[in-house]
Amino acid sequence: MSTMSTPPLTPWLRQPLADLLRQRGHAWLLQGPSGIGQYELALALAAAWLCEQPAQEGGAACGHCASCHAIEVRTHADLCVLMPEVAMQELGWPLDEKAQADIDDKKRKASREIRVEAMRDAVGFAQRTSARGRGKVVLVYPAERMNTITANALLKTLEEPVGDVRFVLASEAAWQLLPTIRSRCLGFTLPWPETAEAEAWLVAQDVPPADAAALLRAAGGRPSDALRLARSGQSPKAWSLFPKAISRGDVGALSDHAPAQAVGALQKLCHDLMAVGNGAEPRFFEAADLPAAPSRLALARWSKSLANAARTAEHPFNAGLMLEALVSEARSTLNSAARRP
Ligand SMILES: [Zn+2]
Repeated sequence: MSTMSTPPLTPWLRQPLADLLRQRGHAWLLQGPSGIGQYELALALAAAWLCEQPAQEGGAACGHCASCHAIEVRTHADLCVLMPEVAMQELGWPLDEKAQADIDDKKRKASREIRVEAMRDAVGFAQRTSARGRGKVVLVYPAERMNTITANALLKTLEEPVGDVRFVLASEAAWQLLPTIRSRCLGFTLPWPETAEAEAWLVAQDVPPADAAALLRAAGGRPSDALRLARSGQSPKAWSLFPKAISRGDVGALSDHAPAQAVGALQKLCHDLMAVGNGAEPRFFEAADLPAAPSRLALARWSKSLANAARTAEHPFNAGLMLEALVSEARSTLNSAARRP
């Protein structure tokens, strides 16, 4: 089996990890906006809990012992990872045999939610004895991808923890979780990384130094999202030209975007125009790259329409038509500013 090596923890997550390890909670909810490392921190916490030789200072996982190795190769008997199947595939975690066979045989698609079957396995896992004698860990990510049935099954286990099992839930939308789940966990909010720290990290991931600042800005300060933009071939130059291309109605500016990404890019533009309209600094674009801000009413209408589009963008009826409609609406919104008296 091919394995995906775990990159070292980003600098801005080291202190949070040390803070978490100093405390005794058996169920943590790590929360904060996407793209700043909930999953990475959750995995580092699980690895530290299970490590056979954790560091003297801070207690982080050693990275070399049998337990750390088993996590590295995704076969640790005392770690249960609960994720939507698409996330497991993306992050290199093996699916259980039956699920993999069903997907291979095209009986169904990989799930975008945490499946009830997987939760049942996790409940069973929580009740077994630890294989390596250092306790067990259930990692849930993104925790907001549990439906009510799955969440209630987890809740039972959280309420009556059996023996030596610990939980770490990581969420990018914690407000979507059942309040009863939130109240059973200790909450921990991830800090935003410093800009300089995030840029240095991007450069260390092979992003050209000249592009790091612009991509980080395009990602609204979220380093993982910036890295994803870099790897998807987003050029900082094209990003800076994007607002004006859209106000000209140039569909080409979105042609290499999947519908969900296209909606996301337009939402950033709409956000920045609203900010500028309210006298604030733009977040995703340079002020000089933005067209004149349309009226608040026009922007509010556009924002609402983009939020609706975001809900259907994962499975659009016709991606090409959707992009054309998005650009056409953006263009008329942006040009309404020019017509204002
Ligand atoms: Zn170790």
